[in-house]
Amino acid sequence: MEPPKIWRERRERYLGIGNNCLDCKEKSFPKANYCLKCSSKNIEEYKLARTGKILHFTQVTQPAQETIMYSPFIIGLIELDDGIKVTGQIVDYNYDDVKEGMKVRMIFRVLSIDKEEGLIKYGYKFVPY
Ligand SMILES: [Zn+2]
Repeated sequence: MEPPKIWRERRERYLGIGNNCLDCKEKSFPKANYCLKCSSKNIEEYKLARTGKILHFTQVTQPAQETIMYSPFIIGLIELDDGIKVTGQIVDYNYDDVKEGMKVRMIFRVLSIDKEEGLIKYGYKFVPY
């Protein structure tokens, strides 16, 4: 039986590892087995930039059950300093004080807890600085 996708990708998601294509130099995330731009398999692991800026953000007031303990929380579209765009929770900051263009840094935290399965997912979130 094949393990769930989240389990297979846990290391990459947890560590923020994507691809760097050695042929066309395209960087992408999450990690894949080939370049998403030119389909080359001549790729290496690439560690995402740990800082970036907020492009857009919104407040989530009715999240899924496994993230309800964070409600309400802020979710943002972040452009990392290497140009890769990711979504992530913006933490340790009041919604009213968050602004587009704010600089953020990546931190590692618990993302969600599935109480029935007892499964705790870890990954990155962002803190303005
Ligand atoms: Zn490529």
